[in-house]
Amino acid sequence: MNPETGWLPDYLLIGDSFASGVALFADATGRITRLSREPADLARAIRLPGQALLPGCVNAHSHSFQRVIRGRTEHRTSATRDTFWTWREKMYHAATALTPEEIHATARMCFLEMALAGITTVGEFHYLHHAADGTPYADRSLLSKLIATAAREVGLRLVLIETAYARAGWNRPANPGQRRFITADPAQFIADVEASQAFAAHSFSDGAVTVAVAPHSLRAVTLDYFKQVSSYARQQGLPVHMHVSEQTGENDDCVGEYGATPVTLLAREGGLHDAFTAIHAVHITGAESAALRAAGATVCACPTTERNLGDGIVRADWLLDGGQMALGTDSQVQIAPLEDARQLEYHLRLSHHERAVLALNAGLPDDRVSGLAGKLFACATEHGARCLRLNTGKLAPGSAADFFTVELNDPSLAGADEQSLLAGIVFSLERTAIRQVFVGGKQIVHDGAHALAPAVVAQFTAVQRRLWNRS
Ligand SMILES: [Zn+2]
Repeated sequence: MNPETGWLPDYLLIGDSFASGVALFADATGRITRLSREPADLARAIRLPGQALLPGCVNAHSHSFQRVIRGRTEHRTSATRDTFWTWREKMYHAATALTPEEIHATARMCFLEMALAGITTVGEFHYLHHAADGTPYADRSLLSKLIATAAREVGLRLVLIETAYARAGWNRPANPGQRRFITADPAQFIADVEASQAFAAHSFSDGAVTVAVAPHSLRAVTLDYFKQVSSYARQQGLPVHMHVSEQTGENDDCVGEYGATPVTLLAREGGLHDAFTAIHAVHITGAESAALRAAGATVCACPTTERNLGDGIVRADWLLDGGQMALGTDSQVQIAPLEDARQLEYHLRLSHHERAVLALNAGLPDDRVSGLAGKLFACATEHGARCLRLNTGKLAPGSAADFFTVELNDPSLAGADEQSLLAGIVFSLERTAIRQVFVGGKQIVHDGAHALAPAVVAQFTAVQRRLWNRS
């Protein structure tokens, strides 16, 4: 008996080009073993007719619980102007109201929607640690365990990004909305990270759950706290993620406390390196973007959230010039990884008043050789995998067999040929085109449907009813 399984779509993405007559094979551990054009291999592979096969999307920045405020913040709460900071108060209302069971149900809803959108890996930036009044649960890792369980029930690969939060901000009084997030002592935080690692290794022996760390931001932890967590992560080889310069107010506070904006401060303190990911990095200078690139750091942009919150436009033209950019669904206002990818480019078009701003090769009037679609797709896949230290996001031997297929006759793609297909997918794909999704060689979405969907949706609907029915 051969333990390999093979799949043969009409087209398969290799690098940034589609090829036909190629089958993908994976072994029983869920790793890609080879791509083959041998007639005997093509004959025994499972046919995926009328479909193109691509590496699964990597969602590098998610707060699953924020799914509950979708559609509940699109109004003005102040007579003057609504901002990120007013939105945040609503988000805190939800963060403090959810029970552990509801956090689990919400994570399942969120992860289910991700699977249906072609996401195979999620990096959950997890900062809901305690009970609503700030008291740790008897099992301090309870909520981490529920998030990991939710991801694996749905079938996603998870990086649990354990997040440290110690204070409201420089010279700011404690905010009751943040009690659930707070672990004041960095040594305790590190012990909690180790407990999560032990749980992940013990409960998910296939390696589908790993752990990373995130000092939340230089607002929420002091520089000293950041350094303790960062040096622990460096010793352990764990990725370090942090919210950086999402808001100008955050920059102003950092200048007030340390005399420098966050990226400049991090560069000075040795905080930038190739395992570091700056989330957002919207309000940075050209010199700061150069420092991020020189250090080999990744910037994770979340354009669908950043536009919803009015954060600003990330300078992908600076950052992708020899640098790495991942993508995240962040607030879950939309779960559409290729919408995030295309907005990297579209936001620059609106601000620069020009087209194809991020194209690699000028003067080549062809969508494939321009390199634009491939570059944006790499942000949604390979770059995300890199910043989570995972071997996924590409269809190559040794990588995880995480992939999805799209229906070539879907109205959003109909008429595309081999040359135009990747640009068609990156700029125009609708979720209706997504047919099959596999994680580690196991199929989790079949013909656009997930087996758990009815139960997950019903459970989440009940959560929303309880949360928002104020009588
Ligand atoms: Zn975030």
